[in-house]
Amino acid sequence: MQPEDRPQQGGAADPRPLVGEPLALDLLNTRWNEDGVRYDLLESVDGLAIWLRSAGLDDRAVADEATLEAALETRGTLLGLMEKGSSPETVDPLNRVLEHGALHYRLGLDGPENRPQTDDVVWLPSWLAAVDYLRLMTDSPDRVKPCAHPNCVLYFHDTTKNGTRRWCSMAICGNRAKAARHYERVKGER
Ligand SMILES: [Zn+2]
Repeated sequence: MQPEDRPQQGGAADPRPLVGEPLALDLLNTRWNEDGVRYDLLESVDGLAIWLRSAGLDDRAVADEATLEAALETRGTLLGLMEKGSSPETVDPLNRVLEHGALHYRLGLDGPENRPQTDDVVWLPSWLAAVDYLRLMTDSPDRVKPCAHPNCVLYFHDTTKNGTRRWCSMAICGNRAKAARHYERVKGER
């Protein structure tokens, strides 16, 4: 059975080339380039539904225009931080996203519990992504990297032992870069 023939549970398949990165990066990775064409999963509410399902948030968030708007604003905020680093212009918007929620703690029968609470459910995915960005910046800021391919806009969390990962995916950008180097070499030898 081909992957595309496989029945999808509850909706369309995730078309993105890179999935499974931490939530903050996963939100950034809703935009990508493929063969010079720009794609954006968040250009429609249907695409938002795909992202929420991929991120495991579909049972806690609603795929609607307001959630989409919040996610786009947050993605722009994260992108600003990635591309320009920290400054009042890039930090303040993230703090505004963070102000939409808080973590509530309680003791449950099986031990301590915490639960995120946002002032409006439309902010939940965005707030979680913003908090995830803080976690990444606390734990391993130097392991958050853009793909080294110049035409690629994807980000990843480098979990390799030596921190040597360069590509979003060896199969896509790694091989593309290798092929380009090979082409340059062959051309040079002629
Ligand atoms: Zn890449």
